[in-house]
Amino acid sequence: MAYDFDLYVIGAGSGGVRAARFAAGFGAKVAVAESRYLGGTCVNVGCVPKKLLVYGAHFAEDFEQASGFGWSLDEAQFDWATLIANKDREINRLNGIYRNLLVNSGVTLHEGHAKIVDPHQVEINGERFTARNILIATGGWPQIPEIPGHEHAISSNQAFFLKELPKRVLVVGGGYIAVEFAGIFHGLGAETTLLYRGELFLRGFDVSVRKHLQEELTRRGMDLQFNADIERIDKQADGSLKVTLKDGRQLEADCVFYATGRRPMLDNLGLENTGVKLDKKGFVEVDELYQTAEPSILALGDVIGRVQLTPVALAEGMAVARRLFKPEQYRPVDYKMIPTAVFSLPNIGTVGLTEEEAREAGHDVQIFESRFRPMKLTLTECQERTLMKLVVDAKTDKVLGCHMVGPEAGEIVQGLAIALKAGATKRDFDETIGVHPTAAEEFVTMRTPVAG
Ligand code: FAD
Ligand code: NDP
Repeated sequence: MAYDFDLYVIGAGSGGVRAARFAAGFGAKVAVAESRYLGGTCVNVGCVPKKLLVYGAHFAEDFEQASGFGWSLDEAQFDWATLIANKDREINRLNGIYRNLLVNSGVTLHEGHAKIVDPHQVEINGERFTARNILIATGGWPQIPEIPGHEHAISSNQAFFLKELPKRVLVVGGGYIAVEFAGIFHGLGAETTLLYRGELFLRGFDVSVRKHLQEELTRRGMDLQFNADIERIDKQADGSLKVTLKDGRQLEADCVFYATGRRPMLDNLGLENTGVKLDKKGFVEVDELYQTAEPSILALGDVIGRVQLTPVALAEGMAVARRLFKPEQYRPVDYKMIPTAVFSLPNIGTVGLTEEEAREAGHDVQIFESRFRPMKLTLTECQERTLMKLVVDAKTDKVLGCHMVGPEAGEIVQGLAIALKAGATKRDFDETIGVHPTAAEEFVTMRTPVAG
């Protein structure tokens, strides 16, 4: 049978655009459907605008520290509306770039909500198109627990477009988004409380990193409340929000921001017209080739719920395009040693195993750790400390994990990830000459294990 398209991609986010462009580049006839915004979550309500707001928040400490270097500034003023307008302009520019990327690579763009009507057919804007393969790349959506008053809370989707900076913000959650946004609000001057239901936030990260960030955020004046969970939210006559916790305590805020994870975006997608199966958490189930239970349908990115990071969605998009249209170049995505950063203030950068994971996996572990006051701060009042940690296998000398909390940790860990991927040993680290004077050189100068 002749199909309208070789590949019909639903979702022009990180993974969908990558798969579509490369498939078209390999000679396939490709269409992409997008219902909201070109570039998806990352470009519009994720990585990019978030990082711009983090940069914005960072100026607070730059201004504070400048006097130690002889600068005197009048009291710094911040205008939220200017930051948001400039951010929006930049995102508009990126939307245009994504449009050009798709069109210039020969991909047909359909703007609207796509629904799968059968395993080889998609309906969009009242028209139907057939395709040999359909790729579900529809991403995720914030998930707010349905407690009484949840409608008064916002998620990251709304936070990027607030008309003004709230005076008092309550951030709920202990993952990436909660920690990053708490840093943004706090840095920009809002009275910020971070509320997390467990003992210590950032579950899954190395425990030294979690504790170090807890200390640093507390030192900066952020109110961290752990073992705390919200029972209900009530709007008061003056528009403020009264938050009642499960332990009976009450807090007041002007904005309650939930960052409690993301669900797969499958709304009105028509999966009931296919044999696609979902896993226990509701994400689209795929095999190692991103194949769903329906032979003509594939899925990737956040909607499969493996690793919800843009570079992972990009790698999966590339793998799918190659697998379908350039099989001789196909290489599976390697999910080991994925570096990641949390753009909290200060940043976390991490790659490889945490100390706990390494011990659980049965490694004979050696730990190297360094905490120091960064040189830049020595002329200032700021007492912030940087943490660097290496997890090493004592038998093979291989470095299993690198973890950092401190300025530019994300930038530093990218290079370390290459070393770990190449199988670097502690001896390789030791024999590497440092770049002086930097914070990063500490990673090649730690000599004495702190724990074995
Ligand atoms: P998405 O980028 O979400 O794209 C899916 C697209 O599909 C969307 O544009 C959507 O509108 C469209 N769509 C959905 N249903 C339909 C339909 N039926 N018809 C047509 N179109 C449809 N990752 C990082 O690596 N670094 C970061 O710093 C980072 N920061 C983040 C900050 C926030 C606040 C959030 C929310 C996420 C962040 N992420 C970050 C995660 C990253 O954004 C996602 O992992 C990535 O965008 C996933 O890409 P995707 O292609 O799977 O989906
Ligand atoms: P995460 O899964 O990272 O964290 C969710 C947090 O919410 C956890 O602390 C979790 O607690 C808590 N939680 C979950 N359900 C509830 C509930 N019902 N009540 C109270 N707390 C709850 O999700 P995020 O929303 O922060 O981010 C989604 C994903 O987006 C991330 O996992 C990451 O992959 C990606 N991302 C990446 C970024 C980056 O690369 N810098 C930045 C932002 C997002 P518990 O730990 O107890 O389960």
